[in-house]
Amino acid sequence: MMTVAAYQVCTRCVMDTTDPDITFDDQGICHHCHEFDQITAKRWFPNAQGESQMQNTFTRIKAEGANQEYDSIIGLSGGIDSSYLAVMLKDRGLRPLVMHVDGGWNNLDSTFKCNTW
Ligand SMILES: [Zn+2]
Repeated sequence: MMTVAAYQVCTRCVMDTTDPDITFDDQGICHHCHEFDQITAKRWFPNAQGESQMQNTFTRIKAEGANQEYDSIIGLSGGIDSSYLAVMLKDRGLRPLVMHVDGGWNNLDSTFKCNTW
């Protein structure tokens, strides 16, 4: 006989038992939240420290690529994450080679596209 776990939502985030592998601690906090705290949060700086680190990285990339046609390379899927990154890098003065690979989902004739600003 198969048993079905009762529906449960994390007390800290939006994750719930629609994730078949989710587990909760005795306070109802899911394992995704614990993984975030133990792994991601150590490299997550959504503050002035992160802005400073990012600006230092951009400064280094610009200097190293000053005499190159492009100073960086990024993939652009067309989704919101890579689109945001492309615009953000352009706004910050980088000159990325932007690559897009059509994995069969595009309405384009070519299977490989490469472009930059
Ligand atoms: Zn959670």
